[in-house]
Amino acid sequence: MNHKEALQHEIFKTIGQAADEGQVKAYVIGGFVRDYFLKRDAKKDIDVVAVGSGIDLAQKVAQKLSDKPEVSVFKNFGTAMIKHNGLELEFVGARKESYRKDSRKPLVEDGTLEDDQNRRDFTINALALSLNQDNFGDLLDPFDGLKDLERQLIRTPLQPDITYSDDPLRMMRAIRFSTQLDFTIELRSLQAITKNRERIKIVSKERIVDELHKILMAPKPSIGFALMHKTGLLQLILPELTTLQGIEEVEGQRHKDNFWHTLEVVDNIAQTTDNLWLRWAALLHDIGKAPTKKFHKKIGWTFHAHEFVGSKMVYKLFKRLRMPLNDKMKFVQKMVLMSSRPIVLSEEHVTDSAVRRLVFDAGDHVNELMTLCEADITTKNLKKQRKYINNFKIVREKIIEVEERDRIRNFQPPVSGEEIMKAFDLKPSKEIGIIKEAIKEAILEGEIPNEHGAAYKLMLEKGKELGLKVASA
Ligand code: ATP
Repeated sequence: MNHKEALQHEIFKTIGQAADEGQVKAYVIGGFVRDYFLKRDAKKDIDVVAVGSGIDLAQKVAQKLSDKPEVSVFKNFGTAMIKHNGLELEFVGARKESYRKDSRKPLVEDGTLEDDQNRRDFTINALALSLNQDNFGDLLDPFDGLKDLERQLIRTPLQPDITYSDDPLRMMRAIRFSTQLDFTIELRSLQAITKNRERIKIVSKERIVDELHKILMAPKPSIGFALMHKTGLLQLILPELTTLQGIEEVEGQRHKDNFWHTLEVVDNIAQTTDNLWLRWAALLHDIGKAPTKKFHKKIGWTFHAHEFVGSKMVYKLFKRLRMPLNDKMKFVQKMVLMSSRPIVLSEEHVTDSAVRRLVFDAGDHVNELMTLCEADITTKNLKKQRKYINNFKIVREKIIEVEERDRIRNFQPPVSGEEIMKAFDLKPSKEIGIIKEAIKEAILEGEIPNEHGAAYKLMLEKGKELGLKVASA
């Protein structure tokens, strides 16, 4: 079968000519070909395999290009990379791989195109299109990858048990592709992943997190987390989530299954935000529920202070997975810590002062917090659902209203400590803190506007109450 139309970009002709001149066979392989057949946007990183030296081919191609791009050579890997017109071209020599037990790094030797296709992870990633002039656009598909694209199936070229054991990262890749493309993983593959799950331990945390990010950014992340759960991988990577699974019943009282609830929340939020860290917050918002779960005879199940405990767990989890311990982590912590705040509002009458307090505590992230809470509505009771959604709408409107009027976000006290010290001729002392707190409280409660004049007046009153004397001018 010929698929010249996939290779309309002038770069493919150039590579073909360079390959002909160097008397090597060259193919474009992997994600670019897969995505072409899936009619996804053309990939910008393009993998080219040469039966011979990939580095030599890259150098020949670079010479032919008018912008004379630099060739980055990775001698150890036998690969070379060229950046050209927004494309990233990766050249590699066809190779055969064999694996040792303790490492993902294979022993490599030169091989044929078939050898190279054999080492690919999935049939849909092993599709190759020929670039040489005499067979430009011919498809080489020894494992029926095209049929698997139609059947929407993730399948390995070789025996799955060997494929996953050789390089356990492929277990995460299988689940990630299944999530991104909404493809089914072949049963034999799923069984092999389950069997080899412990080998995920030889994969670096960074690579695992990379795949987790991609799963989280997919349109329906729950597909991936459910598969990780089913195969036992989730227990090894994110045990904080798997312990949320299950419903306990004591004296006829049940709590909801917080694992499946969490996955629903993540799917919900995936429809309203592309903010990766907010999606992480959705995934982790209930992790404090496992260690705080208690049953009380009178009130039933409680998860007291689970938000606080959960936000502490975020730090440990990020550290264990070597994720950044920076403002991104702090953002996730804050979202988890505050995740129940607007919910309390949604259940009762929404007052201005409660909204002001919410804005005060959430600061710049109040809108993200609202997005998280809206995603958290998973009740199947339509009456409740309608009430919560409507109340959140009111909260959102009030946030805007309060913000315009009171400028609570990134609150700056309208009367400074220095001003208080000057007014009463005070040295630094606890009275200053008391007065400042009283002013802040009065503003949040709506007793006085967030303005200097009103705050100064209240300061004088409070000072009097505390027995302070106004300094003479
Ligand atoms: P995406 O960019 O969406 O991740 P991709 O398939 O291009 O898709 P890459 O990680 O860039 O993903 O890999 C390029 C190609 O290299 C794949 O299509 C596959 O053929 C091969 N490949 C990548 N990683 C592995 C692996 N761990 N084992 C076997 N083959 C792999």
